[in-house]
Amino acid sequence: MDLKLAGKVVVISGGAKGIGEAISLGCAAESAIPVMLDRDSAALSAMEEKLSAAGHAYGAFQCELTDAVQCERAIQSAVQNFGRVDALVNNAGVNDRVGLENGSPKHYIESLERNLFHYFNLAHFALSALKSSQGSIVNIASKTAVTGQGGTSGYASAKGAVLALTREWAVELLPYQIRVNAVVPAEVMTPLYQQWLKTFPDPQKKLDSIVSRIPLGSRMTRAEEIAAAVLFLLSEQAGHITGQHLYVDGGYVHLDRALS
Ligand code: NAP
Repeated sequence: MDLKLAGKVVVISGGAKGIGEAISLGCAAESAIPVMLDRDSAALSAMEEKLSAAGHAYGAFQCELTDAVQCERAIQSAVQNFGRVDALVNNAGVNDRVGLENGSPKHYIESLERNLFHYFNLAHFALSALKSSQGSIVNIASKTAVTGQGGTSGYASAKGAVLALTREWAVELLPYQIRVNAVVPAEVMTPLYQQWLKTFPDPQKKLDSIVSRIPLGSRMTRAEEIAAAVLFLLSEQAGHITGQHLYVDGGYVHLDRALS
């Protein structure tokens, strides 16, 4: 299937590590131009090396996305460097465990800044370019939006809002032919996930118990599998798909886990 993404400029928040890295590399493999926004300068440099060694065009912009001004500058930089933006992948986020019992009103707002506000800000600042390109948006959500997790009010509510905004923007942007969809991961081994596992007394035991409850194949979802869904949704092949929440999770959320 030809995704016809060659030459498309795709802005990816958190594009240098984990799921974002896989999306950036997937874009490059399709001859699209990933523009990676990330605060981790070492990870950005590693990606730059990898992409330039393979002869791929790319953009890299180090920024702290909780700062709206930096979101605006990042989008401006993509437009200045490449003349267009064809797609936005809102991906950066962190399950920061700000809950009713382990957080405060201030911590809650900070969690929303880390997980929600920059989704709006990047879409807002990219909108004019996306209108010109009749582009597409994919928002990365999380299973916690629909299952809950406990002790993570900020993250769960941000991800719930991401699902709501996906529908809201799909409606608002219909007149411009801009499609908006969400991909919902559950369990994907990434640097963030590894850090989270380390918070348990026996990380391997915790991992084994999670994996055993993933219906399809009793295995984690690979970041490349999330990326494949994102690339499809960005492509012309998904030309009549908008406002959808696509769960790429081995059946974790919807299938009866007692069967596995
Ligand atoms: P990751 O391994 O931490 O990679 C995310 C990248 O984004 C990191 O380089 C991170 O930098 C950067 N980043 C995060 N917040 C940023 C900010 N405010 N400004 C600039 N850069 C920022 O995370 P991941 O596991 O790939 O997760 C990607 C997305 O998938 C997140 O939205 C997450 O909620 C979602 N998700 C993941 C899973 C999973 O199982 N991994 C499951 C459900 C949903 P730092 O390393 O400095 O933070």
